[in-house]
Amino acid sequence: MPEDFPRPEEPFRLFFRAALLEWSRQHPRPMPWKGEKDPYRIWLSEIILQQTRVEQGLPYYEKFVRHYPTVQQLADAPEDQVLKDWEGLGYYSRARNLHAAARYVAHHLNGKFPDTYEAIRLLKGVGPYTAAAIASFGFGLPHAVLDGNVYRVLARIFGIDTPIDTPKAQKQFATLAGAMLDPDAPAAYNQAMMDFGALCCTPSQPACRECPFRDDCVARQQNRVNELPKKQKGLTRKKRTFHYLVIRHQEHWFVRKRMGKDIWKGLWEFPFSENDVPEVLLSFEPKSVSAPVRQLLTHQEITAIFYELEFPDALPTEIQQCPLLEDCRLVTLSELKKNIAFPKVIDCFLQSKVLTLN
Ligand code: SF4
Repeated sequence: MPEDFPRPEEPFRLFFRAALLEWSRQHPRPMPWKGEKDPYRIWLSEIILQQTRVEQGLPYYEKFVRHYPTVQQLADAPEDQVLKDWEGLGYYSRARNLHAAARYVAHHLNGKFPDTYEAIRLLKGVGPYTAAAIASFGFGLPHAVLDGNVYRVLARIFGIDTPIDTPKAQKQFATLAGAMLDPDAPAAYNQAMMDFGALCCTPSQPACRECPFRDDCVARQQNRVNELPKKQKGLTRKKRTFHYLVIRHQEHWFVRKRMGKDIWKGLWEFPFSENDVPEVLLSFEPKSVSAPVRQLLTHQEITAIFYELEFPDALPTEIQQCPLLEDCRLVTLSELKKNIAFPKVIDCFLQSKVLTLN
């Protein structure tokens, strides 16, 4: 550990572990996956909960456990079905990685979930946090989890100013978290740390008066609770505008699957042009133009505008030859609603249009 970084002494580490576990006993926080020992289910819950609130993730966890009770069943499912089950949860790369990792376990590991931190870390989409969670909860291995809650608790208790969104700090905090971990009860300790951050040492208005560490907490002593943890800088988002053509031909709509390296790979979409209004709209008056629909991603801000065109009879040549319709196929209303997964902006539009489409 660097010289300016805290090196907790053994007596404090022992006190901290005991006080944390006692706090946890007095503040139970029931969750369906708590106490779960099946690494497959732990993995599912951890991937679903990344960047997702518990209340939002819970029904998805239950759905995935119901639809895919084993890693083999998840591996055998078509990707479109997995993405459809994921619809509405966002960050779709998680679903694609989940599916790819299930196939890897099923086909290369004979369906046996890896049982060491290093082997778990090799699964697609599994970073240090998720690997530590699976290793400790599923196999009782001594690996400390480091999520937003843990960063906050450690930064405040030890009064650490290093911005947590820098690679240097991530290494330092990982070392500190590892030093604080109770090697005899890694699962209980990790769970208690996360619960403590979520319930007591909360981002705003933490319950310092009831905190077992109130006499040791540097942030509290220095009146800097609201300053810590620090971050380097705010996020800047790239702004993109998608002009979607919602083209109905008789009882079918044009859609296509997104490919390539851009966002939402594997999801479906209406044909669109980015930033400029599609040229084909010079030839046809849209039946309707939607209000802009906005979706915030981690690094992008998407604005979507939908132009509805209807062709009850033969398709005009301009539509047939429109380059935006390349790779599109025609689907029925029932396929549109049930079988294929769209990004959230398109889902929002479809929900608002449900009466018109019917
Ligand atoms: S005293 Fe307050 S800021 Fe410090 S660890 Fe406890 S809850 Fe968090």
